[in-house]
Amino acid sequence: MFGDKYCYDMAAAKEVRVPEIAGSARSAAFAPVDSTARVDAVVRRLTDAILLGLVADGEQLPSEAELAARLGVSTVTLREALMALRQRGLVETRRGRGGGSFARAPREDSLGVPGRLAELTVEDLRDLGDHYAAVSGAAARLAAQRSLPSDLAPLKRTLVAMAAAATPGEARRLHGRFHIEVAAASQSARLTQEEIRLQADIGALLWLPHTTQGEDDEAIAEAVERGDGDLARALAERHALAAVGHLIELRLRYPPEVRHDH
Ligand SMILES: [Zn+2]
Repeated sequence: MFGDKYCYDMAAAKEVRVPEIAGSARSAAFAPVDSTARVDAVVRRLTDAILLGLVADGEQLPSEAELAARLGVSTVTLREALMALRQRGLVETRRGRGGGSFARAPREDSLGVPGRLAELTVEDLRDLGDHYAAVSGAAARLAAQRSLPSDLAPLKRTLVAMAAAATPGEARRLHGRFHIEVAAASQSARLTQEEIRLQADIGALLWLPHTTQGEDDEAIAEAVERGDGDLARALAERHALAAVGHLIELRLRYPPEVRHDH
């Protein structure tokens, strides 16, 4: 799993060389960006990967030099990011032989679903549904048109694992992973990145258990495999809107006692 391209396609954080810029204003404009921003980007990327299970619990991360190269950042930047991840308990570093950095998934489902739902208004949720349906629908259509046989095996494995998940938290993480794998099969780096962002942001809410989800996912995987782009898109859109519709229902049924309107 660790080698998958969508974990480390860090184009946004890559150092870009600008040749022969004249004038001090232009030099200032093209001065290196704040290194904190780059550290934050790496922290966010690796946090998402660990929380979503793209990197398995206990899995050893590549060496610092290799990981820095793959993320397109310096080893200094990577080390700062790893330090922040250690402080959050998401990475553990062991010294000596057999040592290195290892991913640590949070033990409990500490994603705070009720609190997170309470922060969103019904309008927020509708907007989210439109956005998510657009992204997942487009990704599913392209996946049906472009996926390679090697893209399909992970989808099927994840569906099987999802059905056998031991805890609801595990099922939700796998569910998010399934949709990321569909997006990755689209061969679009931007759609895949957007899917990862959405799953990291609202996956824990989206994939609260409700009826027919498993059937939807099977049907999406089948449409992708058959190369039926229109059907894959329609199914993915319907699936996204159903998930968000379920959240809107929950939100209306259980209005939070205290709203945090800022
Ligand atoms: Zn699904």
